[in-house]
Amino acid sequence: MNSPLALLGGESVITRGEPHFSWPPLDAQSEAAVVRQLHHSISIYDRSGVVERLENELCEYHGIAHAVLTSSGTAALHAMYTACGLGPGDEVIVPAYTFFATVTPLLHLGATPVLADCDESGNLDPKDVVRRITDRTKALIVTHMWGVPADIRALKAIADKHGLMLLEDASHAHGASIDGQRAGTFGQAAAFSMNGPKPLSAGEGGFVLTDDDEIYYRVLLCSQYNKRCRGELPRDHPLYDYALTGMGLKFRIHPLAASIALDQLGRLDDHLTGRATIATHLCERLSELPGIVVPKLPVGVRASWYGLPLRYVSTELGGLAVERFHEALRAEGCREVDRPGSTCPLNLLPLFQRPEPLFAGYGGKMSYLPGDFPMAETIHRNTLKLPVWHRSEDLPLVDEYINAFQKVIENYPDLLG
Ligand SMILES: *Cc1c(COP(=O)(O)O)cnc(C)c1O
Repeated sequence: MNSPLALLGGESVITRGEPHFSWPPLDAQSEAAVVRQLHHSISIYDRSGVVERLENELCEYHGIAHAVLTSSGTAALHAMYTACGLGPGDEVIVPAYTFFATVTPLLHLGATPVLADCDESGNLDPKDVVRRITDRTKALIVTHMWGVPADIRALKAIADKHGLMLLEDASHAHGASIDGQRAGTFGQAAAFSMNGPKPLSAGEGGFVLTDDDEIYYRVLLCSQYNKRCRGELPRDHPLYDYALTGMGLKFRIHPLAASIALDQLGRLDDHLTGRATIATHLCERLSELPGIVVPKLPVGVRASWYGLPLRYVSTELGGLAVERFHEALRAEGCREVDRPGSTCPLNLLPLFQRPEPLFAGYGGKMSYLPGDFPMAETIHRNTLKLPVWHRSEDLPLVDEYINAFQKVIENYPDLLG
């Protein structure tokens, strides 16, 4: 620890090779599952085989009546919003700080996203949500950022009081819970991504959860035409006539992807327990250091730790710029310390500032600007994200990361001026 900072020519704390983190954890059991599926079927048109098994297990895991697998989280969100009837004339309150795909499907449906700021936790601020409700507001969308559940009780109370639908984008939060109730079960419906790094991964994939039969039928009509709709919609349902075509879109998951997710789901709780141990260790050690604020979980809250979002406080380190601090950590060998880029306040993206060239109908309806969401922008600018490892074998590497933070923080004056 007496070496000068690596950024200034000293030795790096971490010298081992990469990768330092990989996800999902795949082993011989995962390989066998995929190979078995490969020889069994690679196209599934109805609710059978691995699709049926995975949907059943997702329902059981969440205590929910219906699950519909999709090709991606984006597709799941699109199908959920369509099924909930969101469209032209509807205002939908969404987090300003989320991954953009939480919101972009609404643009294809002609609904008007109304961005709301986050609080210190990075999750939707209930107080800011209330300020944005009008008589056109139809729904409220919540993301559980980095797998730390949002203040869902407060948000649900607001939704109930104002007669709004509450919908979750739980793409970071598989298995996270509040007093034992899982993320994705608090509103009328929830959408999840199972993209590569997500806590539950299919490589590519997603799903919608709902207890509402009508939402379920409409999710199917939007995402899975023909056999699946003919098999699932009751014959006497008013929309059964449309079962063959649905709405003409197909968002089916690939069976090989479903087989990966089914294998991973059986181990999700073990993975999350392992992550919780390492997240606690990281938070205990890093919170002792000036310049770093760690996330705080209220009693009864379990996070899925899609990432560990650390907040950098430059005033505690003589005003050292976050860019320089990040550079110094990277030089010490912390390859996995990330300043999230594509997940950013949406008002910073051209699509939400000037949508018209791509979405002609949005002229004048949406024109956000930098500065519109001060909390989201401050949090985004100062967030350094770590992966959360899940195996005890990873602890030596985790401690090297902690040592690197400590070294940079102890020597920060060398980086000033
Ligand atoms: C990953 C993600 C999505 C999109 O999911 P894909 O499977 O990549 O389409 C949507 N919302 C959030 C919050 C995400 O993290």
